[in-house]
Amino acid sequence: MRDTPDGRQLDEELLRGVEPLTRLPFGVSRYYAGLAASGDPNADPIAAQFVPRPEELVSLPYESSDPIGDKRFLVTSRLVHHYRDRALLLVNDRCATYCRHCFRRHFTGHGGGRLTDEQLEEACAYLARTPAIRELLLSGGDPLMLSDQELESVIARLKKVDPGYIIRICTRMPVVLPSRMTDSLASMLGGFDSMWMVIHTNHPREITDDFRAGVRLVTRAGVPVLNQAVLLRGINDDVDTLEALFRGLVRAGVKPYYLFQGDLAAGTAHFRVPIERGIELMRELRGRLSGLALPTYAVDLPGGGGKVPVESALLRTEPDAYVFSGPDGVEFRYPREA
Ligand code: SF4
Repeated sequence: MRDTPDGRQLDEELLRGVEPLTRLPFGVSRYYAGLAASGDPNADPIAAQFVPRPEELVSLPYESSDPIGDKRFLVTSRLVHHYRDRALLLVNDRCATYCRHCFRRHFTGHGGGRLTDEQLEEACAYLARTPAIRELLLSGGDPLMLSDQELESVIARLKKVDPGYIIRICTRMPVVLPSRMTDSLASMLGGFDSMWMVIHTNHPREITDDFRAGVRLVTRAGVPVLNQAVLLRGINDDVDTLEALFRGLVRAGVKPYYLFQGDLAAGTAHFRVPIERGIELMRELRGRLSGLALPTYAVDLPGGGGKVPVESALLRTEPDAYVFSGPDGVEFRYPREA
């Protein structure tokens, strides 16, 4: 058996199978493990997000380690340019906790490590010759696994290409390791113009005093915070949980931005919720929450079709698929699972 940081034991044999097959390591912060009421992923919504289950070993034919098609849009070794006006920089492959539902399995935790100076220069050269890009997402992995100084030098280099860039830091740190949210981090981020932070909170129990304090530091430094949640079976797929999550986020100063339909990532079918259920949940939430607290329910169309709002892009439901209209009007099929 292997221990979690808070002393709970995990099935070593399962880990030996899960880590190489999914290529997503096991890892959890002591803080986040401590939020779980039990170590049983079938009984606790926090444990379910970090404890591997045998279901991860099952990969369906239409699933992939790169379900949203990052690799198709890689323009340099670390820069993904999918949408015309924005690009995503893979700053680092490490996370403070590895989410078992992670969709970026082709990269996260694979040992690629921190972006090198050469990779940053390669990305900057592409950006310099692509003026249509106005917004940069720093992601990974978690960019806040870098030190403040490392991250500051990456942001400063990007701002040298164009001081007008809007920059989003995509991180789970306020949720899984709020002690990473420090005064010095907040003042460094707040020292740049047009900085945003996008976090990933899925359950109201993740909104703790430490979470609120971490968020407060960055919002007071002038960095607005948005949340992207993922609709996850057995974790937040009921209206009371989602209402508490979104209300709690707004109270903490975080705008619920997206609620994502689960991507078709290999070994994550046990997390996915049928799209009909997601639509029904949004309908119920609309009767309970203000516009401020309501996110957009969105799906990343398989194979790099792009992100679309589920409710307005769904054209029809067929026996085996949901058919969506992609951003350019082309039809995309998302499998209808049992
Ligand atoms: S923090 Fe993000 S990148 Fe890291 S494992 Fe979780 S979902 Fe994946």
